[in-house]
Amino acid sequence: MEGLESIQKDAQKELEKISNLKDLEAFELEFLGRKKGRLTAVLRSLGTLSDTEKRKVGPKAQILRKDLEGAIKEKKSSLKRGDIDSRLEKEKIDITYPGLKDPRGHLHPITKVRREVENIFGAMGFEVASGPYIETDFYNFDALNIPEEHPARDMWDTFWLKGMTYALRPHTSPVQIHYMEKHNPPFRIIAPGRVFRQEATDASHDFDFWQLEGLMVGKNVSVKDLKYVLETFMSKFFGKKVKLRLRPSFFPFVEPGFEVDISCVACVAKGCSVCQKTGWLELLGAGMVHQNVFAAAGYVRGEYTGFAFGVGLDRLALMKYKIPDVRHLRTSDIRFLKQF
Ligand SMILES: [Zn+2]
Repeated sequence: MEGLESIQKDAQKELEKISNLKDLEAFELEFLGRKKGRLTAVLRSLGTLSDTEKRKVGPKAQILRKDLEGAIKEKKSSLKRGDIDSRLEKEKIDITYPGLKDPRGHLHPITKVRREVENIFGAMGFEVASGPYIETDFYNFDALNIPEEHPARDMWDTFWLKGMTYALRPHTSPVQIHYMEKHNPPFRIIAPGRVFRQEATDASHDFDFWQLEGLMVGKNVSVKDLKYVLETFMSKFFGKKVKLRLRPSFFPFVEPGFEVDISCVACVAKGCSVCQKTGWLELLGAGMVHQNVFAAAGYVRGEYTGFAFGVGLDRLALMKYKIPDVRHLRTSDIRFLKQF
């Protein structure tokens, strides 16, 4: 039979070293375990002793058992307290610590330019109109006086949808027709929006881009109004006095039609690399709305006059922010976008 002294000595020594609940459990098993506990073995063997021996060892063993049970209980609660203390230490919250800021993005350059354009035209009484991306032949071409043999109707320029009844709009002009079908003049609208053309991309062309169209219709709208509105818009947009130059040109939906050049905003018409030393930049197509277009929209032929113009919203953004490649606008490259 193992002596009580050695059990007590070992227990004392081991208990001091215990620093976690798991070790404490093992300790309890070693000394007080029901099957193999060292003290349990002593207690169990008391029955084999003589009465004298029993009276001598029995009470001592019982006292030791009580002591051990008490020590284990105390150790257990102190270890648990320690656990809570260290958790509190770890989970301490410093309420004076500055908060983490969520990274915030900003508007895309195209959106910025679109909003600015809308503000400038809005101040001149222009309403913003919009329309669907998918259109029929009628809105894409027929109503705009674009005859069937016009190259724009070639399927290599337009994204046709299955069956060729519908196509992605290759320009924003269908918006004009939709608007005129529902409104009577006088009115002034702009239609900024995405358009789609089936063509190869390069630094100045993309197959998915933004256009801006304008339309003003009334009783006596003339080329003078067109020139005034565009000159005012360009000067405000580029933040400097911009001059306009109109050159005769052909677009099916206008008569007469013009190519509109603006004085170079990079060199102020002195001649530089941007304008190829001419002092002028080709920027817009414009003209007086063809009476066939009015008729297609349901107006009485000859009752109204109006002007229309179209310009690449992308192009305006490239010029404003000096972006060398139009494709940057749609790459979603964060290094590019961060610059605006
Ligand atoms: Zn220039």
